[in-house]
Amino acid sequence: MSRVLSGIHHVTAICGDPQRTIDFYAGLLGLRFVKKTVNFDDPGAYHLYFGDAAGGPGSIVTFFAWPGAPRGRMGVGQLTALALAAPHGSLGFWKRRLESEGVPVQGEEERFGERLIRLVDPDGLPIEIVASDPVERHPAWPVGNIPEDVAIRLVHGVTATIGTLAASASMYESELGFRELGSDGRRRRFETGHGGAGALLDVVDGAGDSRGRIAVGQIHHVAWRTPTDEEEIAWRDQLLASGRFVTPVMDRQYFRSIYFHEPGGVLFEIATDPPGFARDEPLESLGTRLMLPPWLEPYRGRIEEALPPVHLPAIVRAAR
Ligand code: ZN
Repeated sequence: MSRVLSGIHHVTAICGDPQRTIDFYAGLLGLRFVKKTVNFDDPGAYHLYFGDAAGGPGSIVTFFAWPGAPRGRMGVGQLTALALAAPHGSLGFWKRRLESEGVPVQGEEERFGERLIRLVDPDGLPIEIVASDPVERHPAWPVGNIPEDVAIRLVHGVTATIGTLAASASMYESELGFRELGSDGRRRRFETGHGGAGALLDVVDGAGDSRGRIAVGQIHHVAWRTPTDEEEIAWRDQLLASGRFVTPVMDRQYFRSIYFHEPGGVLFEIATDPPGFARDEPLESLGTRLMLPPWLEPYRGRIEEALPPVHLPAIVRAAR
């Protein structure tokens, strides 16, 4: 098979408090808030998107906000860590910045030859910041007290914890075109597309561990990139031909998507690069207004009334 996914498109997680999530990802980590919208399948809940200055595929981390919902349980059949890529030499900056805001940081440590630090977000979601040199350049979003040469610009990869690793590994390689890079204890690393930062899938052997439950503080799914609608349809046909259950192509307004579970139970999406986040608002003002798809626009009044107001942090707290 010759079809290859070009890398990670986005990672979607679940948060409890939308404002706290904006403060953490836009304020503290310095990602751009690129889209304020609702969960199209549940328009009473926010869907918040963060990314690089251009909102480019590969940089995107998104959250469904479930205020008042319980925390999930980390375990087998889930994505159990989100890794973000930062430039070489920046980990000291990030460690100091996070700790000065009361966020405990573990590391530095090394994995597959790269240095990283680990932390959890305000909902307990495990985050890794990995010093790496990505193949693809992403423009940093200027935030007052984060120098451009340390800015986080893209998703480095994700970690899945899987109970039956052989079945998952076999699907990644034979059906999805991933390549195995190596192993380190219970962890195996796969890459796709150009490889390296932005294209990595780590799989941890969770045989014997208990199953996770997805709720607040958990990653909901990872989306892999494909460049065109034709490729998306070809992926769908190929997965169906392999006997996988795959959703129809869904219009997510900023990309078009199909969803399926890999054999370990993790939800995968394949999302198209086009049309992108500047589809319905100018690039300069991304994320400043609640955007709704045409089919929800008639209900804007009712939707806005039900959502808690959120705002951008005033460049977090003062530079240190
Ligand atoms: Zn998605």
